[in-house]
Amino acid sequence: MSIIVQKYGGTSVADIDRIRAVAERVKRCRDRGDNLCVVLSAMAGTTNRLVGWVNELDAAGHDAAEHDMVVSTGEQVTIGLLAIALRTIGVPARSFTGWQAGIRTDGTHGKARIEGIDASAVRVAMDEGRVAIVAGFQGISPEGRVTTLGRGGSDTSAVALAAALEAERCDIFTDVDGVYTTDPRIVAKARKIEKITYEEMLEMASLGAKVLQTRSVAVAMQHGVRVQVLSSFDENPGTLVVSEDEIMEQNIVTGIAYSRDEARITVVGVKDRPGIAAAIFGPLSENGINVDMIVQSASRDGVSAALTFTVSRADLPRAERVLDEHRESIGFDRVIGDSSVAKVSVIGVGMRSHAGVAHTMFETLSRRGINIHAISTSEIKVSVLVTEDYTELAIRALHTAYGLDAA
Ligand code: ADP
Ligand code: ASP
Ligand code: MG
Repeated sequence: MSIIVQKYGGTSVADIDRIRAVAERVKRCRDRGDNLCVVLSAMAGTTNRLVGWVNELDAAGHDAAEHDMVVSTGEQVTIGLLAIALRTIGVPARSFTGWQAGIRTDGTHGKARIEGIDASAVRVAMDEGRVAIVAGFQGISPEGRVTTLGRGGSDTSAVALAAALEAERCDIFTDVDGVYTTDPRIVAKARKIEKITYEEMLEMASLGAKVLQTRSVAVAMQHGVRVQVLSSFDENPGTLVVSEDEIMEQNIVTGIAYSRDEARITVVGVKDRPGIAAAIFGPLSENGINVDMIVQSASRDGVSAALTFTVSRADLPRAERVLDEHRESIGFDRVIGDSSVAKVSVIGVGMRSHAGVAHTMFETLSRRGINIHAISTSEIKVSVLVTEDYTELAIRALHTAYGLDAA
């Protein structure tokens, strides 16, 4: 019997009827002969509500361990309910919290990394003919505390379990029937991608396509887990995430991702001198603030310059505060923060061998009168920072320009 790990996201287990529907699907797969480990998210909206309660009491996030204790509970509800739903239709099942399933993480509460999985208890249940149902999004720290893996982390629980169980495949059931050329909720003409490489999926996810958590793709790539993204609401075939040699024809641009979780900071009137970048970015990094795109504008007088960079939106107030605290050692006139920006990225492994992708991007945006505030590139992507109001216009124009529109 081949082992398959299935993961169902929040909308797929949003209420009792949907949990019943998941149970029916699980039964069908089992009747076909699959040996199943099922990973679940919390019901849609639950995790947000739990986070909200914690924030009401502790907005500054002083107690990260108790935060995780609370926000991890949504998954405990759904795994128990699915086990009950399965038993009522005659399928033996057993639920496991993260720690019961042997999911060990580091101690970074709120965004813990899985360090290893001792899947023996899960294996025993499966060997006994039961469906093992594991709570996603959670693990246990070296101190024995409950941890969570970051938002969307059930994807990572599922892929890591698939690696530990040496599963044939990890099926991620969600509310879209695959990975699309861009978010199908924004572009009606988005096309479903049949196969996408790990590398492209990693870029898509890290640049904002939340269909898979970035970390889950990294784990899949590292362990060679075959991942399929598909809908829990129909029977359509999904998208396979595979290695590059499994893909015959490669588009130059495979997909377009966007992120509104961006803020721009411009430090005006800095001295154009060696060490200025270190003086600015040193304190930010010491405070755990990640900087993404960076542009230094040349000074007209050769003495003072402006430095523009992006941070995640949530980090903006803290970044402004840190810069202000280091005003003297850095030396600048003022700091301008702007959180009405978004990052739009085009991704494709074909870029390695084709020139002109960036040029097409800049020309397309310029024809629409969309100003580019910053640019960053890597081997297989080009990202631009635009004013947030233009996000959808930019994505649609680029989607057409790269020939991605569905017929
Ligand atoms: P789940 O709760 O099942 O984990 P998510 O909301 O995390 O589901 O992820 C699915 C959502 O990802 C879709 O509803 C879709 O709006 C969004 N999405 C963003 N980019 C893409 C893309 N390129 N392809 C498919 N879905 C995408
Ligand atoms: N329930 C968690 C979240 O909402 C984990 C997940 O759904 O993957 O982020
Ligand atoms: Mg998700």
